[in-house]
Amino acid sequence: MTTNVQKIFSFIDTYAESKEMLYLEAAIEACERWLDDPSKLLLTDPISKEEIRRGIQLAILKGMKQSAQPHHQMTPDSIGMLIGHIASKLADGQQSVTVLDPAAGTGNLLYTVMNAMDGRISATAVEIDDLLVKLSAITSELLEQPVTFFIQDALRPLLVDPVDMTVSDLPVGFYPDDENAMDYELMPKEGHAYAHHLFIEQSMKHTKEGGFGIFIMPANLFDSDQSSVLHPYLKNKTAIRAVIQLPDSLFKNASLAKSILILQKPFSGMKQSDVLLAKVPDMTNKHAMALFLQKIDMWTEEESLKK
Ligand code: SAM
Repeated sequence: MTTNVQKIFSFIDTYAESKEMLYLEAAIEACERWLDDPSKLLLTDPISKEEIRRGIQLAILKGMKQSAQPHHQMTPDSIGMLIGHIASKLADGQQSVTVLDPAAGTGNLLYTVMNAMDGRISATAVEIDDLLVKLSAITSELLEQPVTFFIQDALRPLLVDPVDMTVSDLPVGFYPDDENAMDYELMPKEGHAYAHHLFIEQSMKHTKEGGFGIFIMPANLFDSDQSSVLHPYLKNKTAIRAVIQLPDSLFKNASLAKSILILQKPFSGMKQSDVLLAKVPDMTNKHAMALFLQKIDMWTEEESLKK
C-alpha cells in the first residue's frame, strides 16, 4: 500500500520532473497547486502533519541534490526529532509557546519542533535565501503552522519580540560583514567573527529571560581559536544548561561533528545548576536510545520546574 508520505512525494516529484525549470521551484508550484485544490492528492485518513512534512522533505532532498543552495544543509530528521522532543519537554505545561529560528532554511527543523508542540506554538523564521523562504512558507501553509517570515541577514537588526525559545541549526563559518559584526560582543579584536558565535548572541538577545536557546553547533565550539571571546560571553550573559554530543556517524567526517548546546537566558532568582553533559548513543540501538531519552526526560523535568 502506498503511504501518505509516498503519495505526497510522488505528486510533487511527478510535477517537478515534468517542468523545464529548477526542481525546487517546480516543487513550490506543485505545493501551491495542492494547497489550491487538496483533492488533487488522494491521501488516506487520518493525515498527520508529520506525514506532510516528511513527504515535502523527500522532494526537497531530491531537489537539493540537483542544485544545493549555497551553504545549505537541511537538518537531518534524527537530530530534528531529538530537538523536537527536548523542546516540547522544556515547554511542558506552557499553553502558548513562541519560537524563533534565525537560520530557518527549508524550515525542516522548525516544523519538526512545531509538530511536536502542535496547537500551542507559533514561530518566527528568518532566512537569507529567498528560494528557501518560499519553500518554507508554502510548507507552513500546508502544515497549518503559524509562522512569520523574514527574508534577511539575521545578524542585522531583527524586528522580533523576545521569544520563549530559540531553536536553530547554525550556519558555521566566518561572517564577512565586519562592520555589522562590530555591534556584537563576540566580534574578536582581529579578523572576522564566526557567524555561529554571532548567531548565538543574536538569538539569546531575542529570547525572553528564563527562555531557552537550543542550537546545533560545531562539536569543537568551546575549543576554537575564538573560544577566549566566547567563554566570557557565555559565562556572563547566559547559563549553559546542556551540551549533548551527537554521534559521529551522522556526519560525513568526525571534523564536521556537531553537538546540541542548550543555553538559558538568566532571570532574577535563577539558581546555579549542573550542566548536563551527555552523548547520544547509536540511534539504531533502541534500548540505548530509550535509556538516553529517560535521562533527558528527567533532566528536562528538573529544568522546567526551576522556572
Ligand atoms: N534548519 C534548517 C533546515 O532544516 O532546513 C537548516 C539550516 S542551515 C544549517 C543554515 C541556514 O542558515 C542556511 O539555510 C543559510 O542560508 C542560512 N543563513 C546563513 N547565513 C545567514 C544569515 N546571515 N542570515 C540568515 N540566514 C542565514
